[in-house]
Amino acid sequence: MSLNVLIIEDESAIADTLIYACDEANIQTTHYLLGHQGVEAIAKTHYDFVILDVGLPDISGFDVCKEIRKTSQVPILFLTARNHEIDRIVGLEIGADDYVTKPFSPREVVARIHAILRRSQQTAPKEVTNTQFEIDEEASRIQYMGQTLTLTRYEYLLLKTLIKKPKRVYARNQLMDIVWVDAEDTLERTVDAHIKTIRSKLRAINASTSEIVTHRGMGYSLTS
Ligand code: CA
Repeated sequence: MSLNVLIIEDESAIADTLIYACDEANIQTTHYLLGHQGVEAIAKTHYDFVILDVGLPDISGFDVCKEIRKTSQVPILFLTARNHEIDRIVGLEIGADDYVTKPFSPREVVARIHAILRRSQQTAPKEVTNTQFEIDEEASRIQYMGQTLTLTRYEYLLLKTLIKKPKRVYARNQLMDIVWVDAEDTLERTVDAHIKTIRSKLRAINASTSEIVTHRGMGYSLTS
């Protein structure tokens, strides 16, 4: 099934290049020139992705984004022409997923769509049955029994992976594939070393913790 992307952009020439590039990549598009049209469309129809211009003639792209976020977690990619807009987007106070600056390559935008969708699918399941943990994705922080853990990037990614699927047993090489982008250079022992430091951080909060279970010869899982 092909993707359905909503484009909200008042400059037809820019929209046309995006529509063309999406078309070539087998992605369906719907295009609106005005912000309020986009907001209405989102309320009625399911879209897999939104490309949203910041500078729209009726309401700003930021306000469109806020409206969309009231009801939908659809990934949003901003198109921006001005540097000062980037600060607001990057601050992520408005809940956008990414941005590209004009002028941009339409193919780059298509690549970005795929990358963002992959990322959001990986983090999609929000059901966390182990209630001892709480993940704050935007801050890349995890709380354990109400206390924030001080984790390195890899520890965070590793623990997050386990928390998302309690009871699922991950082999070390699976964890490496998920967490380490450049996994080939990394020894499986690295996973063990990081699991060890995560455990000691959990133990600092709860001495009798046994949240992370080692499965001999297999890997690790989180208890639920
Ligand atoms: Ca514009």
